[in-house]
Amino acid sequence: MAEKYHFFSDPDAKRYILGCLIAIEILVSVSYIGYIHIEPISITLAYIPILITGILMGPLESTIVGAVFGGLSLWKASASYVMAGDRIFSPFVSGSPFKSLLLSIGARALFGLAVGILYDLAKRRSRRPDLWVGVISFFGKAIHSLLVYGGMALLFPAMGFGIADTLHSFFTLSNLITITGTTLIALLIRRGLRSRPFQLFEQRMQMSKSLRASQPSPSRTMLASILIEFLLTCAVTVYFVGRTRYMLEQDGVVVSSDILSDLFLLQSQFLLGILALMFLLVVFQVFLRRYAVCTEYETRLDALTGVWNRKNFFQKGGQALSAMARQNAWHGYFIMIDIDWFKQINDMFGHPEGDRVLHDLAKCLRSIFAPIGLIGRLGGDEFSILIDRPIERAQLESRLHTFAAQLDQLGAPASGVSCSIGVLAITHPTSVEALYQQADQLLYQAKQQGRSRFIFGE
Ligand code: GH3
Ligand code: MG
Repeated sequence: MAEKYHFFSDPDAKRYILGCLIAIEILVSVSYIGYIHIEPISITLAYIPILITGILMGPLESTIVGAVFGGLSLWKASASYVMAGDRIFSPFVSGSPFKSLLLSIGARALFGLAVGILYDLAKRRSRRPDLWVGVISFFGKAIHSLLVYGGMALLFPAMGFGIADTLHSFFTLSNLITITGTTLIALLIRRGLRSRPFQLFEQRMQMSKSLRASQPSPSRTMLASILIEFLLTCAVTVYFVGRTRYMLEQDGVVVSSDILSDLFLLQSQFLLGILALMFLLVVFQVFLRRYAVCTEYETRLDALTGVWNRKNFFQKGGQALSAMARQNAWHGYFIMIDIDWFKQINDMFGHPEGDRVLHDLAKCLRSIFAPIGLIGRLGGDEFSILIDRPIERAQLESRLHTFAAQLDQLGAPASGVSCSIGVLAITHPTSVEALYQQADQLLYQAKQQGRSRFIFGE
C-alpha cells in the first residue's frame, strides 16, 4: 500500500522541501522555540523536524536532518560556557574528537535513519499507517534518548549515563507533554496531506511543472542572491562581534580569548538562524509565484474540458502561424471536431452526462494530441486542433483512429459516442480564421456523408 504524494517525489520540489526542513531544524535549534522552559516544565522540540522529515520524505532525508541537528548540538557544545556534561558533544573541547563526533552527529543521524525506516515501513507495509505513524511519533523521543544515552554509556562511560536514564526520563510530566504533542503534530500532518486544499495545491504544483518546462530555471539567480546575502550577513556578524567587544571593554570587562570565541560562536548561530529564515522566505515566494502562474493559466482554459478556450486558442494559434511564417515553413494540420448527435445525449441522459462526455472526450484529445499541437474548445460540442509541426499524414490518421477507438469506449450510459472530423493540411501562408472556415467545410462534408468519419482536404 505505497502512498504517493507527487509533491514530495518531484525532484525539484524535494530539494526545496528538504532545504526548508533543514532551515526549520536550524531555527528551532538556535532559538528557544526548540527548548521551552517554563518552570517546572521543560520541553524539547528540536528533534521534531527530524520526525516530520521522516513522515513527509524518507529515511535518507531524515538522516540528513538528523545529522544537521547533531552538527548544531556539536557547535553549541563548543562554547566555553557550556556545562561539563555537555562538552562531550564537542570534538573541540571533549578531548576525544572522534568519539564526540560519533556521539553528536552519529547518534542523531542514526536516529534520523531509524525513524525514517520505521515511518517508511508504516507507510508502505501497514494497513493502518496513521496508527503506526502515531506510535512511532509517540516513542520517537525515547528512541532519540536511547541512542544518545546509549552512545554516552558506550563512548564516555565515565560520565555515568546509561540506557536506564531513558526509562527514568520517560515518565516525567515534561516528557509526556512533549511526546503527546509530537504525536498530535504527526497525525495532523498526515491529515493535512489528505486534505482537499493540499491536494489542490499538489495538482497546481504538478501543473506548474509542465508550464515551467519551457522556461529557463531561475535557480542560478537564486543561488547567486543567496551567496550575496550570506556574504553580507557575514560582514554584519564580524561588525557585531567587534562592536560588542569594544562595548564590553569600554565598560571595563576584560574580553578574554574565550569570551571572544564564544561571542563569535553565538553570533554565527544568529547568522545561521537569519539565513535559515531567509531561505524559508525565498522558498515561500517561489511557491507563491508558481501557484499564481497556475491560477492565471487556469483562467485561460475552458473550465469543463481543460483545453484552451476559444479566445486563447485563436491567440495561441496565431502565434504558432507567425512562428511558421518567420521560418517560412508551412506544415502541419488544422482539425475541426464535432460530436455526432450530441443533443440526443443531453436529451436522453441529461446535461450532466453530456458534460461528462465533453470532459472525457477532451481528456482523450489531450492525451493523443497535446504532445504535437494546440487543442481548443470553440464552443458547445466543437473542438479544434492546430498541429504546428511536420507530421506524416499516415501518422495523423493513426492518431485519429486511436481517438475514435477511445471515444467508442467512453463508458455508459452515453456510450459509443462518435465524432465527425474535418482535417485540413496547412500548405501555404494563412490565418487561423481562414483555416477554421475551410476545416469547418470539411467537417460539414463529414456530417453530410453520414458522420463518424474524418475527411482530409487541402
Ligand atoms: P450533429 O451530429 O449535427 O453535430 O448533432 P448535434 O446534436 O451534436 O448538434 P450540435 O452539434 O449542433 O449541437 C450541439 C449541442 O451541444 C447543443 C447544446 O445543447 C449542447 N451543448 C452546448 N454546450 C454544452 C455544454 O457545455 N454541456 C452540455 N451538456 N451540452 C452542451
Ligand atoms: Mg454535434
